[in-house]
Amino acid sequence: MKVREEKIGVLCRLLEKQQVTETHRIEEVQYQPCGYQQDGGIPAEGYRPFTDCAELSGKDRHFWFQLYLRTPKLPKDKKIFLIVETGREGRWDATNPQGLVYLNGAVAQGIDVNHTEVLLRQDTEYVIHIYFYTGMEPGKLEFRPAFQIIDCRIEKLFYDFWVPFSALQNLDENSLAYTRTFKVLDQAANLVCLRSPYSSEYYDSLETAEKFLQQKFYQETCGGSQAVVDCIGHTHIDVAWLWTLAQTREKAQRSFATVLALMEEYPEYKFMSSQPQLYQYVKEAAPAVYEKIKQRVREGRWEVEGAMWLEADCNLPSGESLVRQILYGKQFIKEEFGVDSKILWLPDVFGYSAALPQILRKSGIEYFVTSKISWNDTNKLPYDSFLWKGIDGSEIFTNFLTAQDYPPDGVPVNYSCYNGDITPSMVKGAYNRYQQKEYSDRVMDTFGYGDGGGGPTRKMLEQQRRLSKGLPGYPKTEIHTALEHLEMVKKSFYQNGEALRRIPRWTGELYLEYHRGTYTSMAQNKRYNRKMEFLLQKAEGLAAAASLLSDTAYPSQQLRSLWLTTLKNQFHDIIPGSSIFEVYEDSRREYAGILNSCEDLAEEYLERLAERVDATDGYLVYNSLGFARTGTVSIEGKTLETGRIPAFGWKVLRLEKAEDGVKVAGNTIENKWYRIEINAYGGIASLVDKRFQREVFQEGKIGNELLLFEDFPQDYDAWDIPAYYQEKPLQWQEKAELSPVYDGDRAGLRISRNYQSSTIIQTVYLYRTLPRIDFDTEIQWSEEHQLLKAAFPLKIHNSHATYEIQFGNLERPTYRNTSWDAARFEVCGHKWADLSEGNYGVSILNDCKYGWSAVDSTLCLTLLKCATYPNPQADKGSHAFTYSLLPHGGDYRQGETVREAYSLNQPLMWRKIKTGEKKLPSEFSLVSCSNPNIIIETFKQSEDGKGYIIRLYDAHNCNTNAVLSFGVDLKRVFLCDLLENPGSELHLEGRKVKVPVSNFEIVTLKVEK
Ligand SMILES: [Zn+2]
Repeated sequence: MKVREEKIGVLCRLLEKQQVTETHRIEEVQYQPCGYQQDGGIPAEGYRPFTDCAELSGKDRHFWFQLYLRTPKLPKDKKIFLIVETGREGRWDATNPQGLVYLNGAVAQGIDVNHTEVLLRQDTEYVIHIYFYTGMEPGKLEFRPAFQIIDCRIEKLFYDFWVPFSALQNLDENSLAYTRTFKVLDQAANLVCLRSPYSSEYYDSLETAEKFLQQKFYQETCGGSQAVVDCIGHTHIDVAWLWTLAQTREKAQRSFATVLALMEEYPEYKFMSSQPQLYQYVKEAAPAVYEKIKQRVREGRWEVEGAMWLEADCNLPSGESLVRQILYGKQFIKEEFGVDSKILWLPDVFGYSAALPQILRKSGIEYFVTSKISWNDTNKLPYDSFLWKGIDGSEIFTNFLTAQDYPPDGVPVNYSCYNGDITPSMVKGAYNRYQQKEYSDRVMDTFGYGDGGGGPTRKMLEQQRRLSKGLPGYPKTEIHTALEHLEMVKKSFYQNGEALRRIPRWTGELYLEYHRGTYTSMAQNKRYNRKMEFLLQKAEGLAAAASLLSDTAYPSQQLRSLWLTTLKNQFHDIIPGSSIFEVYEDSRREYAGILNSCEDLAEEYLERLAERVDATDGYLVYNSLGFARTGTVSIEGKTLETGRIPAFGWKVLRLEKAEDGVKVAGNTIENKWYRIEINAYGGIASLVDKRFQREVFQEGKIGNELLLFEDFPQDYDAWDIPAYYQEKPLQWQEKAELSPVYDGDRAGLRISRNYQSSTIIQTVYLYRTLPRIDFDTEIQWSEEHQLLKAAFPLKIHNSHATYEIQFGNLERPTYRNTSWDAARFEVCGHKWADLSEGNYGVSILNDCKYGWSAVDSTLCLTLLKCATYPNPQADKGSHAFTYSLLPHGGDYRQGETVREAYSLNQPLMWRKIKTGEKKLPSEFSLVSCSNPNIIIETFKQSEDGKGYIIRLYDAHNCNTNAVLSFGVDLKRVFLCDLLENPGSELHLEGRKVKVPVSNFEIVTLKVEK
């Protein structure tokens, strides 16, 4: 503050204080400890006097408070508030004390460290209950209820002075904007008489000053700006993070109730919130609040948007998971609120897959919004409004939130936030930070405390009223929904794009140059998620087959509920591994439950099919994948190869072990294709591919070398892998123990290694006829802050490696030419990655890993990490997973990498043939496709129950006419979008249909029997 502004500053401070005319402590307080609320009811009895704040110590605790208050009669221009303070005011909202306030039995609003006031009516008898939560921060806590009387005239004048006064702080003293603002404030300050507060002379002077400010400043000086900051109330609520799901259920009630309360006071206030999961919580726990939300949605003041079931991670979930996030998310929003959601709203998610543009376009989504890419640690994306182009060529209009303070205070200049405020500084900063000014005059500020909820405050809304006038040197604010804002920006973007003859466009993934550890942290959850995705695929396919072939009812509700639990655990702090220990205990329990239910469901439906198969002996082997394959089954402890099993179908077989498929001798394993030699430390000293007469690994290098690196990120322990990790590898010192393993049609060497107090046991298997080399891995992990990778220094020449993502794949450089290349030192890939040269290549497959790195010709799979914050246990404990090497001729296409990776993840099922009805053939395929690039992934009943949905995609970047063959007669086949809305009908020729599929296209068919 400059000396000449001091007078105005002092005046603001005095008015702020003087607006509170009376404060009275509420002395009689009763309380009782309690736990998480089960039935939503306020306990009628059991209260005792509350005298000692020490009772409140401890985190994650709940109490019921009860107080009585008779509010006084008040003159007009006065209002009365209940005030609840805890001594933590102004600290981080998310983890500090909070409560839900009930006035005479009805939910009034939430309270927290930034929302301490509850507006009361004058001259009213109140029984007040507060369901109080201590939060997750240890330390001293108080509970100090009071009531306060505010003089509205003084309050108004305070804000009228204070907002432009704050604005002065970010204006150049030599600018016209500064001079004009300062001049009026200076004169207005002279009009206020402070000698005798609350006297008639005082109030008269306030009135004079108020009139002067309104006329000279707000009417005559303001309003020059063309730039607009569209403000929409918002609160980011992490569905679990430094608190559990149970706490989020409460956070949603508190935050939403506070929004509704402030909407009563501020008719201009609009609010948006995403995440049906949160609405579902409120619907169950606070139906009255939920009904009020619906009313505000009807009035156009509450915007339900966001498309997904919750703000999911977009690196790790499968393509089908992303489709279901949107399908079930949009369904809920439509059914509950009558709104067709148009925006994918993911402000806080750690990177965005290049599969998303197509998924969005085919789900009726028109806009994508985030702010997280501004957290990049190295490079700044050149655009904030642009067309984002995915792997298939689909484009989606994308807009970044640009709110930041002006100048950015203590954060990187690139940084922007979704937890915005409405201050002159943030309004100016949001516009200043926006890089497409020639395309749009509007930016968006999502204002409200967030991460753990809280939302907008009275203070923000008061400031908005002043900033909406357009202060000199500042953009003006307007209140719009996110959709209204995006529609305006998009229109202006295209108009200006045409005029400028250039359209900002970003092709490929929106890689976040940060939080690279989230592909690996909490291996437990990654594994469960992968297992669930495949189990659900299997259960849906089997249930669809059983219902098509035997009129068995399709378990749609049960499957939907299994999906919703899976989707919930894909939340952007759960699956990435960035939550606390308790969150992972919850998800372990949830996953264990749904895993069993889903497995039971699949078994039950397979049983129903097996009972009807026309065979008298042998095994029915079922293949739930959309292509015919040879796989293995484990029968009586032996792994046996099956021969070819039809797609989405079965075959009845006799299963016997063949002779002499794989030889194990000393430290070597050999089959008809490969010869492997293991060295003393357990690495592969030599891998010869006999088909091509070549050594797979570089000379003198070790294959499947387990590397350990120190892993001490600077800030976000579970989230990050520091770039410098590569400089501190650990040389493996201890020798391995080798022992041969014979397992039916496969055999190999079991390699046991110890590292400090951890053990790593791997069995390297070769099969009789399968081309994979498996590394079945069991780890007992006790280390902290160490990154474990399996390295494959391949004798292959290419500057790019290929990684599977959802519904396709993409290439990333293996060199570090630019800062953009270097920043991608750890990347996300799904079931496989591949490095190939002209006529030969090697794929690495896995059944639950996502972190990869590649430098030159060394491809590494990241196996484990173990952060200690926020979960001190993180990855300590037992791990079991498999990864495989798949050497092949040509590239990943000739190598059939995609299919092999699916096969590794989705074992065949089997049943011993029993006697029963004999209506079904002994060999059958429900649907298949002869094109090698096509993966039929999903077969399910349609959401409307009137047909079946088949989802397939091109996995090879090929434009094809796929031919599908069905095992049953069908009436009609339609092309659909991902929401299952039918489009054009396809021509059925007998049991075949020709389907055009373009590059990496996802095609959804609806078939009717
Ligand atoms: Zn978040």
